[in-house]
Amino acid sequence: MTQETGGFVAFNLNPNILAAVIATGYEEPSAIQQQSIPIIMAGHDMIGQAQTGTGKTAAFALPILHRIDPAKREPQALILAPTRELALQVATAFETYAKQMPGVTVVAVYGGAPMGPQLKAIRNGAQIVVATPGRLCDHLRRDEKVLATVNHLVLDEADEMLKLGFMDDLEVIFKALPATRQTVLFSATLPQSIRAIAERHLRDPQHVKIQTKTQTVTAIEQAHLLVHADQKTSAVLSLLEVEDFDALIMFVRTKQATLDLASALEAKGYKAAALNGDIAQNQRERVIDSLKDGRLDIVVATDVAARGLDVPRITHVFNVDMPYDPESYVHRIGRTGRAGREGRALLLVTPRERRMLQVIERVTGQKVAEVRLPDAQAVLDARIKKLTNSLSPLVADAESTHGDLLDRLTADIGCTPRALAAALLRKATNAQALTLAAIEKERPLVPNNAPRGDRPERSGDRPERSDRERRAPMPLGEGRARCRTALGARDGIAAKNLLGAILNEGGLAREAIGRIQVRDSFSLVELPEDGLEKLLTKLKDTRVAGKQLKLRRYRED
Ligand code: AMP
Repeated sequence: MTQETGGFVAFNLNPNILAAVIATGYEEPSAIQQQSIPIIMAGHDMIGQAQTGTGKTAAFALPILHRIDPAKREPQALILAPTRELALQVATAFETYAKQMPGVTVVAVYGGAPMGPQLKAIRNGAQIVVATPGRLCDHLRRDEKVLATVNHLVLDEADEMLKLGFMDDLEVIFKALPATRQTVLFSATLPQSIRAIAERHLRDPQHVKIQTKTQTVTAIEQAHLLVHADQKTSAVLSLLEVEDFDALIMFVRTKQATLDLASALEAKGYKAAALNGDIAQNQRERVIDSLKDGRLDIVVATDVAARGLDVPRITHVFNVDMPYDPESYVHRIGRTGRAGREGRALLLVTPRERRMLQVIERVTGQKVAEVRLPDAQAVLDARIKKLTNSLSPLVADAESTHGDLLDRLTADIGCTPRALAAALLRKATNAQALTLAAIEKERPLVPNNAPRGDRPERSGDRPERSDRERRAPMPLGEGRARCRTALGARDGIAAKNLLGAILNEGGLAREAIGRIQVRDSFSLVELPEDGLEKLLTKLKDTRVAGKQLKLRRYRED
C-alpha cells in the first residue's frame, strides 16, 4: 500500500471496501469524501452540497456499504437518482466498491426496461437499490412493502430531481420508507424547495459544503473543451497536434489512467511517462528530472504524484479529468506559467461536469473560454509547420554534402529530383498523413461534434417574442425529429415533466433531447431522428401527470 492511500485507511472502513478502493487506483479522498464519509459512517443524516465531479458518489457509497449487513438478503439502502443514466452510473460505482464484499448485490431500477427482472432482483435480496423516482413508484404501486427494510436513503442530485418534476414521487417514496432510516441528500444547489424537503424528511442533518475561496490565476491562458468521456484520448491527441508546447503535464484521476494515457501518447511517438503514487519516490524523481532536461516532454500525473512539481519548461497543463474542486484546479494550472512565463491551461469537460466549470469560473473570477477541436485544416497546417521547422535548418549545407549523391541516385533510379525528394519525405515523416483527405480519414473525432446544450427549454430564459413567433415551431436542430403529444399546459404539464418521463422511460442521455415547447393543448419535443421509431415504441405506455403521453412524429406541413 502506498503512503497516499493512507487517507482512505484513516476512515476505518470495512477492509473489503478499502481493498476495493485501493484497487480502483484512488490515491486520496476528495474534499467531499473527506468530510462526508465519517458523518455518514456514524449514522447521521446529512446534506451535502456538491456537484458531479467532486467524487460525491464514493462520498456516500463507501460509508453506506460499510453500514449495510451483507448477511441480510433484503434491500437496506436506496439511492434515488434523477435519470437512468445517473442511476446506472451510481449502481456501477457501488458494484465496483462492493467487488470484494461477497453476497452484496446492487440493482438498478429505472424506466424503459421491464419491471419483472427488477422486482425479482429486489426480492432475491439485493441490498442496494439504485432507482429513478418514477419507476420506483411504479413498483410501489404493485407492492407497497417493497422498501420496508430500507434503512439508508440517499437522494443524489436532489435539485435535478425536482427540476424534472419528481417532487410528488419523492413524497410517495418517503412515506414507503421506515421513519427511523438515515437520510442523506446531495445537491449542487440548495434552493428553498430542497431546504423544505430537508426540513420535513431529514433529522438533525449535518451540513457539508466544500468551502471555496477566491483564487487568482494570472499569466495563464485558460480554455475548455466539451467532450464525451470516451473521446478524451482522441481529443488529447488532436489538441497536441496544434498546441505549441515545450513541456506539458496532464492530470487524470487514477493511477490506471496515468498508465493508459501515457502509453497512448508513447504509441503516437510522444516522449511521455506516467507519474502516480505507486511509482517509487526515486523513480518519480527520475521522471521529473527527465521532464526538466527534455528527455521527456509529457508527464501524465495524478494530483498526489504531481505535488510540489516545479519544472520551468512546462508551458501547458491539460486537465484531462476534472479536478475535484476549484482549489485543486488552481493548484494544477499553477504548474505552468512559472517564473513569470506565460502558460496555457486546457480543461476537458464532459456534459455532466459543466456545473463544475461554472464553479471554477466563479471562484477564479475568470471566464474559461471554450475551444473546439482543431479541424483537419488546422492539423495539416500544424504538421506542415513542424515539418518546415525541422527541415529548414538542414537545408543550408545539404546540397554541398549530398547534392552529388542526389544527382547520382536520380540517374540510377531514373526518376526526377521531385520524385526522390517526395519519397524521402514520406520516409522521414513515417508516412504521416499530410493531406487534408488523409487527415480526415485518420481522425476518429469530427471537430465541433462536442456535446452541446442539454438543458430543457425554460421560457423564462428567453427574450419576449411576438405572439406569432411564439406560436410558430422553432427551427429544428440537426439530426432531430419533432414529436407531438396532445398533453399540454392545460393538462398540468410542464417541460420538466416531459423531460423526466422521456429520459427515464426512453433511456436517453440528457443531450439527446432537444427543445421542448409546451403549448396549452399540446407539446412539441425534439428527439433524435436516429432510432426514433424504436424510441416511440418504447414510450408507448408512458404516462405523464397520470395521462398517456402518446408521442407521435409531427410533420409541419
Ligand atoms: P463523481 O463526482 O462521484 O461523479 O465522481 C467523479 C469521478 O471521480 C468518478 O469517475 C470517480 O470514479 C472518480 N473518483 C471519485 N473519488 C475519487 C478519488 N478519491 N480518487 C480518484 N478518483 C476518484
